[in-house]
Amino acid sequence: MKFERLRLLGFKSFCESTDFLIHSGLTGVVGPNGCGKSNLIEALRWVMGENSYKNMRASAMDDVIFSGGGSRPARNFAEVGLVLDNTARLAPAAFNDADLIEVTRRIEREQGSTYRVNGKEVRARDVQLLFADAATGARSPSLVRQGQIGEIISAKPQARRRILEDAAGVAGLHSRRHEAELR
Ligand code: ATP
Ligand code: MG
Repeated sequence: MKFERLRLLGFKSFCESTDFLIHSGLTGVVGPNGCGKSNLIEALRWVMGENSYKNMRASAMDDVIFSGGGSRPARNFAEVGLVLDNTARLAPAAFNDADLIEVTRRIEREQGSTYRVNGKEVRARDVQLLFADAATGARSPSLVRQGQIGEIISAKPQARRRILEDAAGVAGLHSRRHEAELR
């Protein structure tokens, strides 16, 4: 599934509504230090279901909400939307009837996050599985953090196996099996 666009509103330094179109091929994001390049990648990770605020370089999840700056006051919510091309119909059955799938995550101060797929409210887990099935997601090795290459080299065999399973696109199945075993 191809990412088509990323829409941010009130997420970290993206105070105003910002819409990034992601064209086919290689996309580069360039800009001076502190302009928000890493925030953009974190928005991608966040909308795919990241639940660790530490991985968002934050000390609480509410810290992803625009905290004010320049003449602009703080916002009381942040929202990120990610539009996926689903013409190949690779999404889980519940979401698989549309060519475009928009996943949104919204957080309001002290209220936690809500997720929607094409406007319908879903669980965080549904969003995480959607991306795991597409061999990507908040924790997937398709998003390479600074220092992560070194971690892969020194990882224990089980952790390295998880990386390979993810690359092979079976992470979603693995996760569902684990859930079934707990029931
Ligand atoms: P570098 O080239 O140094 O890696 P970068 O382009 O990756 O820089 P980011 O780390 O994405 O920059 O952005 C950092 C900026 O985001 C800082 O100016 C910081 O103040 C701002 N920022 C982070 N969180 C928030 C927030 N909640 N509200 C407002 N601004 C924020
Ligand atoms: Mg950066």
